[in-house]
Amino acid sequence: MSLSYPDINLLINGKWRPGNSKKWSNVVNPATEEIVGKFAVAETIDLDESLEAADTAFKRWKKVAPFTRYKMMRSAAELLRQRVDEIARIMTIEQGKPLAEAKGETLLGADTIDWFAEEGRRAYGRVIPSQMENVNQIVIKEPVGPVAAFSPWNFPINQAVRKISGAIAAGCSIILKGPEDTPASCAELVKVFVDAGVPSGVINLVYGIPSDISNYLIPHPIVKKISFTGSTAVGKKLASLAAEYMKLSTMELGGHAPAIVFNDANLSAALDVLTAQKFRNAGQVCVAPTRFLIQDKLFDQFVEGYVERSKKVKLGNGLEPETTMGPLAHDRRLAAVEELVQEATDLGATIHTGGQRVGNVGYFYPPTVMTDVPISARMMNEEPFGPVIPISSFSTIDEVLIEANRLPYGLSAYAYTASSEIADRVGQEIESGIVGINHHGQPAIETPFGGIQDSGQGKENGIEGLESYMHSKLISHKTTP
Ligand code: NAD
Repeated sequence: MSLSYPDINLLINGKWRPGNSKKWSNVVNPATEEIVGKFAVAETIDLDESLEAADTAFKRWKKVAPFTRYKMMRSAAELLRQRVDEIARIMTIEQGKPLAEAKGETLLGADTIDWFAEEGRRAYGRVIPSQMENVNQIVIKEPVGPVAAFSPWNFPINQAVRKISGAIAAGCSIILKGPEDTPASCAELVKVFVDAGVPSGVINLVYGIPSDISNYLIPHPIVKKISFTGSTAVGKKLASLAAEYMKLSTMELGGHAPAIVFNDANLSAALDVLTAQKFRNAGQVCVAPTRFLIQDKLFDQFVEGYVERSKKVKLGNGLEPETTMGPLAHDRRLAAVEELVQEATDLGATIHTGGQRVGNVGYFYPPTVMTDVPISARMMNEEPFGPVIPISSFSTIDEVLIEANRLPYGLSAYAYTASSEIADRVGQEIESGIVGINHHGQPAIETPFGGIQDSGQGKENGIEGLESYMHSKLISHKTTP
């Protein structure tokens, strides 16, 4: 398979071009550690041009009929489907995930565009009867204005497509700072919108030094809304900057999902889902199960089953057809996972499988199943974002609910049980934006996705995702002046 990889320009006001400074930065293939390409670095002058473009384009785009926007977006989705093979190949080269996952992500991206295109046509307002005579009260939905969005490297298309589709379906323009580790597949996504006829300046794409770009764009008066996906630490900084300038913000941040298996669960079904969802994207998924809490009677069988399934994982270059799990996406992630495992081991954890980097070229780290990990270990408190599986046991539902709610995160949680009473308590009492019972419950495009507490604020996808790019305006009209 060819390893050709495009150089990535910025997209500003409809033109693909290098930054004014002509600075470039390298892209590394995490499976080989080879430099495969480069992306253009934006500086302040480029950001100023993108702001002006987004501002001018917004004034026209907000007046474009929703049906016209819909048609362009549906064409963009079709182009993404047509280009899936090439885009997936590029994504695997820069991000590491197996080709099948990259294809799935790209096709889901097309479905996401379709859904927002449809929903944008149904962004209805409402008529509210007045307390006074001869007064018409109508509420209309208006796009909030130019958006500054920041999307990460773990899902280069899916994290970006939610932001772009929600914003432009609502009538906003957007400046997206794409992921510097995985810039090409995100750029290919943006390209389908351009090729489908979305006018110049409606979508702008920049790369560069993330903090320089966010520090410049967030306070800028042209920008009316911020959307960020990434770590809790960075999200808190950006949210406080947004608050200082009274900007709307949506924050999709980290999680630390409890995965609870009760004694009455269907063990093999639970194992199948909890392994598949852990190995997906090598565990670099904000809604991956991360704290495995198994009721005492099933504990030994669960550990045994997890180890058995972990050993079947084919770790390798995502371009190879037999690979089921690719490398970690970059050297920072490899170092972080190695540190978490080392610290837990130093604190007395037992490793049942994995526990060491595989090879010394490529950022390969195997599924690492651990027991006896003390609650004080960093991996039980910080988002692990890698293929580490700390398994603990519990006796009672009260005890496990306390553990599930122990951390300030609240993105996703999972439980396996045959009892509707237990399922009800879990659904009601776990503090989390998403609770999956007896399956992963991975939210579809039409359902709201997002966390609470340290996992963020606001939702992407679902009608909430579209509405986060719109204001409600009340027009109260007395018809007898
Ligand atoms: P990081 O926290 O530095 O970066 C995470 C993302 O935020 C990257 O896309 C980066 O470009 C962006 N970013 C960083 N600083 C920024 C700033 N000041 N302004 C704007 N954007 C900024 O670290 P990392 O090594 O890339 O990832 C580490 C952690 O990030 C992971 O452990 C995970 O917890 C979290 N993360 C979460 C998600 C998610 O889906 N919620 C995705 C990627 C990373």
